[in-house]
Amino acid sequence: MINKVIDGKQIAAEILNDLKNEICKIGLNRIGLAFILVGNNAASQTYVNTKKKACKQIGIQSFDFEFGESISEDELVALILELNNNPNVHGILIQQPLPKHIDLKRIIFEVDPKKDVDGFHPENIGKMVLGYEDSFVSCTPLGIFTLLQRASIEVEKKHVVIMGRSNIVGKPLANLLLQNKKGVNATVTVVHSMTPNFEHFTREADILVTAIGKPNLIKKEMVKKDAVVIDVGINRVDKNILGDVDFNDVLAKVSRITPVPGGVGPMTIASLMMNTIKSFKQSVSI
Ligand code: NAD
Repeated sequence: MINKVIDGKQIAAEILNDLKNEICKIGLNRIGLAFILVGNNAASQTYVNTKKKACKQIGIQSFDFEFGESISEDELVALILELNNNPNVHGILIQQPLPKHIDLKRIIFEVDPKKDVDGFHPENIGKMVLGYEDSFVSCTPLGIFTLLQRASIEVEKKHVVIMGRSNIVGKPLANLLLQNKKGVNATVTVVHSMTPNFEHFTREADILVTAIGKPNLIKKEMVKKDAVVIDVGINRVDKNILGDVDFNDVLAKVSRITPVPGGVGPMTIASLMMNTIKSFKQSVSI
């Protein structure tokens, strides 16, 4: 019998193991990923550390750049241009959020799209929307897509309702699942903070993806019986991490569900590793 709870941690571990084997053939530490962290946001530090740990585990070399809040936009751009030209660096990750005096749009734009393993550059987003295979898809949507595949959840001809329209989750995921490709071909609805009566849509979802940042908002009366629920939310409440979905409330009603933590989060990290290896391979045309 299939386990109702989709174990993203286990699936991500399997992917990392496969990637490690692949890297053993390419050469340990031949692939490089640069991390740029600005300020001392505790959550950002944790995210960067988790990503660096994954690099170490599979044999990707990390390059660390940490700065205080006061770094200027021009200094950051100068570093990015240097990394764009560094042949040992195949991916550049700029941990968000950045301080308010730095123009995030400019920073994202300066990263060489070929090293944009976060998939945030407009060139990569445009290519992804058009379905080009050489684009980098941002890590959380790619992680969700991979998770659905690995958990044998059909998306073709299904109605997927995505809650949240952010540039890093909702918008790219909607475009990915809309692709006219065998095994994809979903019908996608996106709801957001200005959608009146969002429950009207969530109750119709074969697959419900929540990426809103509202702890335990989604209750059983808002989901369809036997729906698949993918909870992207990471909400820190009293030292606990909660999803957007009230897991215990909906569990009996749904057919499959991701836990928080241990669902989408580890898949995001695995996707970053996949994208970095992809960048290396494209750079040497393997
Ligand atoms: P965001 O904070 O940029 O935007 C939230 C989105 O939710 C907006 O589009 C808003 O319109 C929508 N929204 C808010 N309230 C809503 C409501 N009641 N009904 C419908 N839509 C509503 O979003 P984000 O950066 O995509 O993050 C969303 C959540 O996902 C956060 O909890 C974040 O921590 C988490 N997250 C998790 C991962 C992961 O790897 N698991 C990655 C990225 C983000």
